[in-house]
Amino acid sequence: MKFYSTNNPDHRTDLAEAIFRGLPADNGLYMPERLEPLPESFFTDLPYMSFAEIGFRVSKQLLGDAVPEADLKKLVYEAVNFPAPVVKLDDHRYVLELFHGPSLAFKDFGARFMSRLMGHFNRGNDRQLVILVATSGDTGGAVAAGFYQTPGIEVVILYPKGKVSALQEKQLTTLGHNIHALEVEGTFDDCQAIVKRAFLDEELRESIRLSSANSINISRLIPQSFYYFEAYKQLGADGDPVAFCVPSGNFGNLTAGLLAHRLGLPVEQFIAATNRNDVVPEYLQTGVYRPRPSVATLSNAMDVGAPSNFARMANLYGQVNGLDPLEPATHRGMASLISGYAYDDASTEAALLEVKERYGYLIDPHGAVGYLALKEWQKEHPNTRGVILETAHPSKFKPDVERILGHQIEVPERLAELADREKKARLMSTDYTPVKNWLLETFG
Ligand SMILES: *Cc1c(COP(=O)(O)O)cnc(C)c1O
Repeated sequence: MKFYSTNNPDHRTDLAEAIFRGLPADNGLYMPERLEPLPESFFTDLPYMSFAEIGFRVSKQLLGDAVPEADLKKLVYEAVNFPAPVVKLDDHRYVLELFHGPSLAFKDFGARFMSRLMGHFNRGNDRQLVILVATSGDTGGAVAAGFYQTPGIEVVILYPKGKVSALQEKQLTTLGHNIHALEVEGTFDDCQAIVKRAFLDEELRESIRLSSANSINISRLIPQSFYYFEAYKQLGADGDPVAFCVPSGNFGNLTAGLLAHRLGLPVEQFIAATNRNDVVPEYLQTGVYRPRPSVATLSNAMDVGAPSNFARMANLYGQVNGLDPLEPATHRGMASLISGYAYDDASTEAALLEVKERYGYLIDPHGAVGYLALKEWQKEHPNTRGVILETAHPSKFKPDVERILGHQIEVPERLAELADREKKARLMSTDYTPVKNWLLETFG
C-alpha cells in the first residue's frame, strides 16, 4: 500500500516515509491509495472477534503489505490493550467510552499505535529517533504515555507554562526515561513555532533524526477506525440502523469513522458535534468553508478554528488537488452522510446535568456536546441507534465538572496517583536557540 497527498494524487510514498515525515512537502495530508470494503467474511466473523483482532484485520486492510503480517499483528495487539465499551443510555442512545487508556482520552489509541509502528520501522537503525511535539495539553499526555520506553525513540514535549491543567502537566513531566518535557514561557503557538523551526533547521537535522507526532500523522488515524467496528460489534448487526456522533475539533476522529465506512461499516449517518468553533457544521449547512481563529470554550480539546483533517474529509468526497476551489459536489457528498451541529457552553453545561439526571451517567463536556447533537438529529430519526463517542474521562476536566454538578467527583486511581509524582521539566524562553542547543547537547 502506498500513500498519496491530498494536494496531489500523483505524489505517492511508502508507509515509513508517510509516518516519519508526517506531512507531504506540498502541505497536503497523506491518505492510503486504496480504501476497499472488507470481505463479507469479516462481517460474518465480527461478532466473535476480539477488539485487538478487529484492529489487526482493519489495519491490514488499510496498510496492505506495508508491514509484514506477523509484525502487524503483534504491534496491534500491543497497542489495543484496553477496552472500548459501549454503555447503553436507552434503546436508541449509547456511549462509546474511549477513555480506558493511560491518558484517559481517545488519543491513546493513536499514540500507542504510532509509537509501535515507528518502533517497527526504526528497528535496525542505530541512529536514535527524536520525536518533537508541541502540545496544548491532551496530545502531549497521550504521546508521552504511548512512547514511554519505546526502544530507540526519545520524545521531547514542549508545552506552554501555566496553560495546561495541573493533571495534564503531571502526565507530561513525571514519566522520565525517554520522555523529556520543555516548559516554555509562552503560548502554545510559541511552542509550535519552535517545533516548526527545528524541522526546517538543516544543521540540527544533520545531527539529529527528527520526527513529529502531531495529529495529522496518518498512523494516528488508522487505529481510530478500529473502535467504530468494535462499537458496531457490541451493538449487534440485527437491530435499528446505527449513527455515530463525534465531538470534534481537528476532525481526526470523524475522518477515521469515514475510513471505517469506506471499509464497509454500515453507518447510516455521522453527526459532527462542535462547540462554538463551528467551521465544519457551518460548511455542512451552507456549503461555505470559513476557517477562522478559535475561541476558548468549556470543551477545550475541540477549540479549533481551522480543522486540520478537513482536507482529508474533502478528499474523500472528490477534492483531489487541495481545497481551492471547494467543489459543490464535495459539499453535496459530505452533507449527505454527515450532519453538523454546534453548541455554546451554557447548553453544554445543561446537557451534562441532563445526562446525569436522566440516565445516571456522568459524561464529560466534550461528550455533552455530542449528546446535544445526537438528540437534535434524532428528532428527525427516532428509530436510529445513536452512539456518542465519549472522547475523554470526565475527571480530566474535574474543576469544571465539579462546578457544574455542585459536588466532587471520583478520580480513577491511575490519575490520582500522578498528583504525588515529581515534576521534571526544563524551563525555556520562547527563543529558538537555547532549545536547539539543548537538543544538540542531549541527542547530538
Ligand atoms: C482531541 C480531542 C477531541 C477532538 O478530536 P479530533 O479528532 O481533533 O476532532 C475531542 N475530545 C477530546 C477529549 C479530545 O482530547
